[in-house]
Amino acid sequence: MSADNHTDLHSALAWPFFEPRHRELATGIEAWCRANLGHESHDDVDATCRRLVRELGVAGWLKYGVGGVAYGGHGDTIDTRAVCLLRETLAKHSGLADFALAMQGLGSGAISLGGTHEQKTRYLPRVANGTALAAFALSEPEAGSDVAAMSLSAREDGDAYVLDGDKTWISNGGIADFYVVFARTGEAPGARGITAFIVDADTPGLEIAERIDVIAPHPLARLHFAGARVPRSQMLGAPGEGFKLAMRTLDIFRTSVAAASLGFARHAMAEGLARAASRKMFGQTLGDFQLTQAKLAQMALTIDSSALLVYRAAWLRDQGANVTREAAMAKWQASEGAQQVIDAAVQLFGGMGVQRGTAVEMLYREIRALRIYEGATEVQQLIIGRDLLKARAADAARGDTK
Ligand SMILES: Cc1cc2nc3c(=O)[nH]c(=O)nc-3n(C[C@H](O)[C@H](O)[C@H](O)COP(=O)(O)OP(=O)(O)OC[C@H]3O[C@@H](n4cnc5c(N)ncnc54)[C@H](O)[C@@H]3O)c2cc1C
Repeated sequence: MSADNHTDLHSALAWPFFEPRHRELATGIEAWCRANLGHESHDDVDATCRRLVRELGVAGWLKYGVGGVAYGGHGDTIDTRAVCLLRETLAKHSGLADFALAMQGLGSGAISLGGTHEQKTRYLPRVANGTALAAFALSEPEAGSDVAAMSLSAREDGDAYVLDGDKTWISNGGIADFYVVFARTGEAPGARGITAFIVDADTPGLEIAERIDVIAPHPLARLHFAGARVPRSQMLGAPGEGFKLAMRTLDIFRTSVAAASLGFARHAMAEGLARAASRKMFGQTLGDFQLTQAKLAQMALTIDSSALLVYRAAWLRDQGANVTREAAMAKWQASEGAQQVIDAAVQLFGGMGVQRGTAVEMLYREIRALRIYEGATEVQQLIIGRDLLKARAADAARGDTK
């Protein structure tokens, strides 16, 4: 395999993070995207997302976000590198297609990781084949970055829990068939008093209180729970273990947000290169100017740095390592880096860069939220800083502080 003469994912596929199956997967999803994507209507994002989930399911791509072959997954555990390669490639072609795949994995991740046999049997096969849409309901109006401050309550009542409160910014809100909801059960204060539940969308007492419109539209809503009764059998994991389950889910999917950022950046790079090579000005082309070459070089450096961090985190997780620090580094670098790469591409296009509907203009809107959700950049910085201090304390306890 050649590692040179490419500006896209092909150059990274030669890296030792990947196994032959990943290279095959990358080729397969690229071919599928070329044949099937490029005409995603944003007029009715609900319908487009439903259709994309079905098509991704039929094509077999959703299986990679589900753990357990017996439950429709591709492997017994979620292959992080595969999910990242899928998201990087889908994002390069279509933000909505990436979103559709990502939400199936994120929305069902806690079931793959902590569900009972009955829960996995009931939900995962339908997630994997695209017949049930999943959502992950963690954030609240007063608990976003400070997620442990959540107040949506789940009160035990006989063989059920009764949920009251709000969740907001919930992707797939309004079109999901079920929501994995994190609620305060109160075993302990803060993060240790949170429990996860699977809540079917048609549960009485659960309503879509508000649809939220964002700069790169996708289905998004605020959910209101008023006395929503959820059977105890729908509890995910043990009482008080919900926060940990949410963080374990994010350790997988946070790295994949970084991979999606990389896909957006690669698309912008291709657009920017094409423009630099073709735009005539001052008797030569834009790409002939050293200022342009420096810009392109910076874009390429940012992309490769991001790719190395993304696939290091994905590879490490697939080896069974704790990747909280590495996933945070990947997300920080790849999402902030992609914003810079896309901004540079917009600049290369001049006026056309801000014309509604051009590829770089859409990418400019598409990337913005990735620096905020699944932990804003500042949250990733705190995670890394705290982890370093914890590691230093452990080293000190062993007498190793050099
Ligand atoms: C498009 C989109 C989709 C989303 N989808 C989902 C979903 O499916 N499920 C879900 O549960 N949530 C989802 N979210 C919510 C998302 O996770 C939250 O928006 C995010 O966690 C930030 O919370 P917040 O919006 O309340 O901002 P706040 O918590 O109010 O933070 C505001 C800003 O403060 C800064 N900040 C945060 N912490 C610190 C700190 N310690 N020090 C200094 N500065 C800090 C950051 O810059 C941050 O952007 C989504 C959000 C968006 C925009």
